[in-house]
Amino acid sequence: MAHNNEVTVQIYAGGYKGEAVSYNLIEQKLLYAADTLPVKKVLMGWPLDKTLYEKTADLLYKKNIEFYLWFSVFSETAAVKDLKKLIDFTGRVLERDNENKKEDFFFCCPKSDRNIEKILDIFSENFYSISKCFNGVFLDKIRYPSFANSRAGRGVFSCFCPECLEFYKDKNINIDELKQKLLNEQKIDIIEYYGNGKYLFKDKLMQQFFIFKSEIIYESLKKICVFFRNQNLSIGFDVFAPFLTPFTGQDVVRLSSLCDFIKPMMYRVTNAPAGLPFETKALRQYTGSKIINEGFLSLDSCVEEIKNLNDVSSCPVYAGIEINKVDDIAHVDSFYIEETIRAYLNKDIHRFALSWNLLDMPDDNIKKAAQMLR
Ligand SMILES: [Zn+2]
Repeated sequence: MAHNNEVTVQIYAGGYKGEAVSYNLIEQKLLYAADTLPVKKVLMGWPLDKTLYEKTADLLYKKNIEFYLWFSVFSETAAVKDLKKLIDFTGRVLERDNENKKEDFFFCCPKSDRNIEKILDIFSENFYSISKCFNGVFLDKIRYPSFANSRAGRGVFSCFCPECLEFYKDKNINIDELKQKLLNEQKIDIIEYYGNGKYLFKDKLMQQFFIFKSEIIYESLKKICVFFRNQNLSIGFDVFAPFLTPFTGQDVVRLSSLCDFIKPMMYRVTNAPAGLPFETKALRQYTGSKIINEGFLSLDSCVEEIKNLNDVSSCPVYAGIEINKVDDIAHVDSFYIEETIRAYLNKDIHRFALSWNLLDMPDDNIKKAAQMLR
């Protein structure tokens, strides 16, 4: 049976600060991709250069391709707004790591309404006037820090600001007991993984804590989505691979009810934030269980995770696969592209988000993806 494959491509055009890439490069790569691949959507962000989006929107309109603004939410935004920081379980403010120069993995408190207002102000002040360029927004960094970017786990065991403490108190969670456990460096003992980010933890309090964090992310995103829906913008979500999500406050199944598509990042060879080897290594250090193992990095496991989410998701699920080649970070070649895409297609998964930067995707990789997906 013939299936229509659907492709979304992501373009990283620069951060809030610093210079954006040239439009010529975007045009050249996009024309090539659009002529060879069944591209339906382009997600691009997030420099504050309006003409870059206007020119790209013109091009995509002619090609009948949807255009989404790739918009960072709880991280990156501190570069342009003064946001309330996360407080860890010892009561200390989580400061910036400066571990990654190109992108910023410093997160603000997602519970704070003041933070949400300021983050949305970034859109109003910089993108509202060109919002007709976009079919929607693609929301990224909709989470807490993970073990891999949180200074010895302190970011995962956050936030303990007065506002968050109030929330836990309302939920009757024993914060003093939890703090004591964390101070004693108790590991997260995992009994079982059920799929779709659902775990059974040995410690009930720990389990509760993670559930409440995902509730905070869900409720905050609900407010953020109302803002964008009111502007007639569609919404996509960038999320971690399901097995990593409870530790960053993302209940992927629940989140799928807020957006129009959801893209778990199944980056099997990326040794950087969101990349499976990078995140899994850090997660393993914090769990006293054999449940988190190399198996999660396998192609079979990735396909299974997407398939499981597909079965219960309220919106379409896009398999987020890395297609860019970045020295020392992501060794993605045409062989990798071929085996990855084939495995998903074999399990009847036909929606792909080619991530995270088309501009760094070698032509050989585009050719191979085209051969597989046309
Ligand atoms: Zn907080």
